[in-house]
Amino acid sequence: MHKPAEVALAQSAQSSAATEAKRNAADLSFHIETLGCPKNRADSRRMRASLMRLGFREAREPSEADFYLINSCSFIREAQEETIQTVFDALKVREIKSPHMKIGLVGCFVERFSDSVSSDIPELDFTIGTHRYHEVGGLITERFGIEPAGHAANRAEEIMSLGDDTARPFAWLRIAQGCNRKCAFCIIPTIRGPLKPYQLEDIERQLAEDKALRGTNAPLREVILVSQDTISQGVEEIEKIVAHLSLKHEIEWIRLQYLFPDRRILELLDLFEKYPKLVPYLDIPFQHVSPEVLKRMKRPSDTALFDEIIEKAHRVRPDMEIRTSFIVGFPGETEDDFEMLKAFIEKHRIDKLALFRYSHETGTSAGDTLSETLTDEEKYAHINELRDLHIEKRKQYALGLVGKTEVMVVDEVTPTEITLRRAQDAPESDEVVTVYYSGAAPVAVSDMVEVTIKGYSEYAFMGQLAAKK
Ligand code: SF4
Repeated sequence: MHKPAEVALAQSAQSSAATEAKRNAADLSFHIETLGCPKNRADSRRMRASLMRLGFREAREPSEADFYLINSCSFIREAQEETIQTVFDALKVREIKSPHMKIGLVGCFVERFSDSVSSDIPELDFTIGTHRYHEVGGLITERFGIEPAGHAANRAEEIMSLGDDTARPFAWLRIAQGCNRKCAFCIIPTIRGPLKPYQLEDIERQLAEDKALRGTNAPLREVILVSQDTISQGVEEIEKIVAHLSLKHEIEWIRLQYLFPDRRILELLDLFEKYPKLVPYLDIPFQHVSPEVLKRMKRPSDTALFDEIIEKAHRVRPDMEIRTSFIVGFPGETEDDFEMLKAFIEKHRIDKLALFRYSHETGTSAGDTLSETLTDEEKYAHINELRDLHIEKRKQYALGLVGKTEVMVVDEVTPTEITLRRAQDAPESDEVVTVYYSGAAPVAVSDMVEVTIKGYSEYAFMGQLAAKK
């Protein structure tokens, strides 16, 4: 039976020569390696804030870190393998370059394998589950006998010099933890527990943490509200958060991610008319469109609702772009079911499409009760077919945007290139717009500027700066 993972500490960790020599947090540095989804990135930021609040510094190079934290993923087999590989890579760095380094595994993998992770990987110095990200700094100081130092906000200059991670215009804000649903392929409710919506105070705390980390750096232009199932706390609660954030002058864009396709989405779409800061972006993982497959997935199978949602989304905001994901090769998926996915892509304008190969996971109801019917080769062949179809459809739409001028946010500036994003694109998941320049940089990270789209090729735009907003 799964038992929640709290904090575990390997015996060897307490007798570290390095931490004995350097007992104050101000003398110690950390690195966080984040795997998996944007929700994990939001949690990594909370860990980072928690560590910096107590005076730890962020290491300039991962190999220089005193504490190397891996925020893990265990969603599917590949994610578990990637987590294990990342631990081994960190162990190798420790062996070659940094024998005093403490390596800790945090998050979903720890929750999922709480009974065995410490004994299976005894080289780990500590493990922490998914419920204590915001306390990571305190847990480490307590367990390793380290004295906390001053608040990170007092070291704004140092924080500003940390590089790209602080100089970015967006922040992920977690608005709930856990999930009450029981999708047959998903382990997350077991790992993260039932849905626990956050209050406005929690969101304010996350914003304050982000501000402290940001120092006097680039202003925050975009907040991305994430949870496992963002609609489940209800439209009223979501509206409260959106209304609250809309009043903040600096924030220009509010993005919702992971909207489970239930009937309340129709009501939620009205908010896009009421709150102009809500970006025209609907992230709605349908996972499949065959009613039979959806029933076996233990998800709502009324696919007419999917059509209704897309139709209303485009009616409310004609510039709305839709992101969805499909799981390909779920047990019992037939050729007819697969054809339905193709027909859906043909019929609708799906702007961003994530395709996942179904992966049989023990501990999920599908993994424990259903039998696989397709081989991995068959699943990949289907994924490739869907991807080709989508690339072609997306290209047709995106080429229609060439010549348009839109307000975009500056994500990154290098000596020759500016990377920007349209409101319809989420950071680190969707398309970007590249502008080339020479001479002095005409813009800075976080600027909102008008850009004319000049070209498009497979999931990337080229642009030209029009004028500063
Ligand atoms: S809604 Fe998402 S997190 Fe919840 S069970 Fe379904 S797939 Fe998993």
